[in-house]
Amino acid sequence: MKREPGMPPLRRMTNADGRTRLKLMAPTIKHRSILHTLSGPVGALADGSAQAQSSYARERDALLKELDAMARDTGAETGRPAFSARVMAAMAKVPRHSFVPASYGALAYANQPLPIGHGQTISQPYIVALMTDLLDLGAGDTVLEIGTGSGYQAAVLAELVLRVYSIEIIEPVASRAAALLRKLGYNNIETRIGDGYSGWPEHAPFDAIIVTAATPQVPPALIAQLKPGGRMVIPLGAEGEVQFLQVILKRADGTVSAQRSLPVRFVPLTRGN
Ligand code: SAH
Repeated sequence: MKREPGMPPLRRMTNADGRTRLKLMAPTIKHRSILHTLSGPVGALADGSAQAQSSYARERDALLKELDAMARDTGAETGRPAFSARVMAAMAKVPRHSFVPASYGALAYANQPLPIGHGQTISQPYIVALMTDLLDLGAGDTVLEIGTGSGYQAAVLAELVLRVYSIEIIEPVASRAAALLRKLGYNNIETRIGDGYSGWPEHAPFDAIIVTAATPQVPPALIAQLKPGGRMVIPLGAEGEVQFLQVILKRADGTVSAQRSLPVRFVPLTRGN
């Protein structure tokens, strides 16, 4: 089976309790893909008919149950055996079908990453929920996201915090996400085209930072722009190697600590000029 960016690796990895991750994740994803290919509202995106909407609602409910189950199954490794009620409510509310290309409408609520063009992807819903949960967001927080992509993760964040700033390096990807987020009424998200490696100093410091592209090291500017007591979630690893989701904590005295979470696969954080 082809490994997609934003999806946990499918190679067999044995957990402490002897179960394998391959057993844990791959069949679920595969099974749901087949299911959705057969029963999803194919081509129904454009008309937004009542039938398509109720089909999406059903599929979203099924996805939420799957997220609960996956959180439980991976809880020993992530430290989050259940995602917070606020995070789950945000996952329930954001219409993922609006963020995937129309041709993938049937897979909008499958628990898998999908291509969004320009070699980029919208992340797997489980990874979006996990990264969001790991940020421990409060309603008054200001969050920086690096890698707007489809805008889906930004929308999930916007349901939970006061303000979201999101940077995307590919111009057409950034423009499309900005227009979509505006159309959907996400007035608390500000987007910008540019290289997120340097962060967004004008709006720093941030309560939380989420990086949705992989890099070998944490960009120093992002550490600098994190508030003391703030959290960053970032996939760390060189291109072509196994990446690990890491939770970076900045202590009150400015020193940082890192905690390793799940192995993941993201598209690389590229550098602008
Ligand atoms: N968060 C997205 C998924 C992101 S995929 C979603 O919810 O859909 C990673 C994105 O990071 C891609 O769109 C890629 O173009 C972007 N990216 C890569 N390097 C970047 C950089 N240096 N600065 C900003 N964005 C970057």
